[in-house]
Amino acid sequence: MPPLPADDAEIINALSDGEMPALLAAVAHVTGDSSILTADLRPDLAKLREPNAGYTEAQLTAARESCLRGLRKLRDQQDGLPVRPSDEDVRTIMEWLAGTEISERYIPLLAEELSIDGDQLRAPQWEKAALAPDRPFKVVIIGAGMSGIAAAHRLDQAGVEFVVYDKNGDVGGTWLENSYPGCRVDIQNHMYSYSFAQRTDWPMYHSPRDVLANYFRDCAEQFGLMDRIHFHTEVSSATWHDASQMWRLALNGPNGVEEIEANAVISAVGQLNRPKLPSEIAGFGQFEGPAFHTARWDHSVDLTGKRVAVIGTGASACQVIPIIAKEVAHLTVFQRTAPWQLPAPNYSLDVAKGLTWLFERVPFYAQWYRLWLFWRGAELMMPLAIVDPDFPPTERSVSAPNEEMRALLTMFLQMMTDGDPELFAKVVPDYPPFSKRFVVDDGGLLLTYRQPHVNLETSDIAGIEPTGVRTADGTLHEIDVLIYGTGFQAADFLMPMKVIGREGLSLHDHWDGDARAYIGVTIPGFPNLFTLYGPNTNIVVNGSIIYYSECEVHYVVECLRLLLVEAKSSLDCRVDVHDAYNEKIDAANRLRTWGFSGVRSWYKNKTGRTAQNWPFSVLEYWELTRSPNPDDYLLTDLVPTPIA
Ligand code: NAP
Repeated sequence: MPPLPADDAEIINALSDGEMPALLAAVAHVTGDSSILTADLRPDLAKLREPNAGYTEAQLTAARESCLRGLRKLRDQQDGLPVRPSDEDVRTIMEWLAGTEISERYIPLLAEELSIDGDQLRAPQWEKAALAPDRPFKVVIIGAGMSGIAAAHRLDQAGVEFVVYDKNGDVGGTWLENSYPGCRVDIQNHMYSYSFAQRTDWPMYHSPRDVLANYFRDCAEQFGLMDRIHFHTEVSSATWHDASQMWRLALNGPNGVEEIEANAVISAVGQLNRPKLPSEIAGFGQFEGPAFHTARWDHSVDLTGKRVAVIGTGASACQVIPIIAKEVAHLTVFQRTAPWQLPAPNYSLDVAKGLTWLFERVPFYAQWYRLWLFWRGAELMMPLAIVDPDFPPTERSVSAPNEEMRALLTMFLQMMTDGDPELFAKVVPDYPPFSKRFVVDDGGLLLTYRQPHVNLETSDIAGIEPTGVRTADGTLHEIDVLIYGTGFQAADFLMPMKVIGREGLSLHDHWDGDARAYIGVTIPGFPNLFTLYGPNTNIVVNGSIIYYSECEVHYVVECLRLLLVEAKSSLDCRVDVHDAYNEKIDAANRLRTWGFSGVRSWYKNKTGRTAQNWPFSVLEYWELTRSPNPDDYLLTDLVPTPIA
């Protein structure tokens, strides 16, 4: 980390770009002086999405002066080392930053998230060579996207033999496959990144796809994982053999079809990678011009001056629309359900130079900033999605805080459609906020809809014809190019792989379209199979999916440790444990906006059950994934090695 400059001028200059609440927290941490965390500078919880949590000019001046004094002290002190705060200090600082009391239960999570000791608290605390040096033990990871890389890195740290297979030609998963114009991460990157590969130099608050794809490749390279990954290799089936206590996998790769064996399999195949084409629409496939899905963007098609239609207004389509509107002659957007739009003023902005400068020079500032984003994006949001049976909940809103959120979000829609009541009526959703995935935007989408060559069409689609799309009102919308922003086959976890467990049980027959798992990770009857981003681990309002993947990876690594320490060949989740867990999940999901509302969303499967989402807090998921409870599993003794 470069030192703070001797001259104050540069610091003062950078402070004008600093996000003050998190900087005050960092300065209190590194100087050991919490007295700068005064009541009048405590962030206003109602203004968290505003820069500097809505500080007034007077508050900004006071905050900058306090930080300058603290940074001078840090720069000029003899040993130059920041003070290491105790857990209690962390809690004091965090309570000031969060504006609320923080329970004892959170302290270990916060200490870990703050990375005071680097990666030490999260990295595996064991090595295979010490636990079971002579035991052959091999793990297969399927998928080299965000979760697969995290799993590979942790197994590598634990010295467990593994190999990764990916159907693509590079790492990155969803960030490799989605290359549509406007593709970027819609939560902030300082939180949407690995805990073990944090960056202080993100160029934008919400990185475009290329930056993220490069980030994941850089991570795989930096952690020495690239030569452990077999690209262009698809796992077509995985079959458990009870006699040998091994998985046998069929691969289809550059060498043709081959079979390999593994003691354990980690599926890191993601939820959102198999496009859902609207084949239910009459005439689907009859359009004569170019037609493609957002996740299979056809870059050979030049949209300049063309009449283009986009079907869908989910997160992908809403990222595409403002970008392509700049080049097309006419754009028709077919909206079936209006999404709630969550305003993010910094959505398209470069990270302010002074902010990056401070991240790179003030110890722990980047970590406090990340923790601040984590807290406000995680635990502070969850209450907005909980159904209050006494409210009473309706298809308008589900609780007083949810109704307040509705009012705030409606105000944004009103402001951005000012003077166009017809457009306003089209874009106001008729279901409670957070019942389906929101769209993050800085107002660019609504400004796009207001352009004369853009038509937001809310009439139902009656059919697709060779020259365009016909709506129920009889209009034929003639177009040159058709883009499907129609989402993914999210409910079909692990498809199209054929997975066969104990006694020939087929996973997909067993699930029958209603995927369930224990903690999202293990499934009775499928020993030593671990799913990352599995059933009921998706988040709507709380946290970053990377955080959850890291929790899952931690749990899997600890399951492997259990097998090695206890000299067991397999663990198989107990049916009663799995079922009781799922009942709890289902009951809670019914009391979340997404489970309560009747609105259609990819969170629900064909049975109407919310099979995607985690309904509790980040803390509860973190606690559940610390280590497996051996009583939750049927453990099988090692199969004796045959004497040669
Ligand atoms: P999606 O949310 O499932 O949206 C699909 C859209 O297509 C919806 O508007 C849907 O309408 C519409 N649609 C589907 N079939 C249709 C039909 N037959 N007729 C008319 N309209 C139809 O898919 P997505 O936008 O690809 O997003 C999926 C998820 O990926 C997101 O929710 C998010 O979690 C993730 N994502 C994240 C980012 C990011 O930056 N982090 C970016 C993109 C996506 P209905 O709403 O009526 O069903």
